[in-house]
Amino acid sequence: MAGLLWRYQKKLAVKQRIAARKHKGSNRRQKAHKTVARVYEQISNVRQDYLHKLSRKIVAHNQVVVVENLNLKGMVRNHKLAKAISDTGWGTFVNFLSYKLERSGGKLVEINRCFPSSKLCSHCHYQIPELPLDVRTWICPSCGTHHDRDGNAAVNIRAEGIRMLSCSGTGEANANGEDVRPIRGRKSKMRQSSVKLEAHTVPSGLCG
Ligand SMILES: [Zn+2]
Repeated sequence: MAGLLWRYQKKLAVKQRIAARKHKGSNRRQKAHKTVARVYEQISNVRQDYLHKLSRKIVAHNQVVVVENLNLKGMVRNHKLAKAISDTGWGTFVNFLSYKLERSGGKLVEINRCFPSSKLCSHCHYQIPELPLDVRTWICPSCGTHHDRDGNAAVNIRAEGIRMLSCSGTGEANANGEDVRPIRGRKSKMRQSSVKLEAHTVPSGLCG
C-alpha cells in the first residue's frame, strides 16, 4: 500500500500546485480543484482497500478478535499498521472487522480503553504506574520479566478479551481460550489476534 499511497500523494502535490497557479475565480481553477478532490478520493479508496484486505485476512484466520476501545484523537504510533489505521480511522477498521466477523460467525470483543494493557505485567500482573509511549521495552520490577511493550500489551488484551467472553456467558470460550463452538462441523481451537495501538493521551482522570 505504501508505494501506491506515495504515488498518489505525489500526484496530489502536483495537482495542488497546478490549482494554486490558476487565477482565483476562473473556470480553470475550478476545474483544477475538482481534479484535486478526485485525487483525495483515490487516496481514501486506497486506504479503505487496505483496511478491507487487512480485516479480511484477520477474520479469515481468527474466530475472535480482541481490540481496545481507543481514544481516537492523537494516534501516534508509527508502524505501518498504525499509520494506515490512523489515517483512515480506527473506527472504520473496527467496523470492517466487526461486520466481517459477524458474517463469518466470529466475534469482536472490545475492551475498555481504561484497561491498562501496556502497564500490566502479563506474567505476574503487577501494574507499573507509568510507561511513557517512547519506552518500547521494560522490565517488571516485581518478577523481573523483560517485556516488549506491544507483545506484553497484546498478551494482556487477549487475556482480558477471553475474560470478558467468559463473563458474558456466551459459553463460546472458557478461561483457557479453548473454543467449544464447532465451525463447519469441526471443533477447532480458538485463535485470537489482538491489535495494539495507543492513543497519544488517554485522559487518565477518566480511568481512575
Ligand atoms: Zn511481573
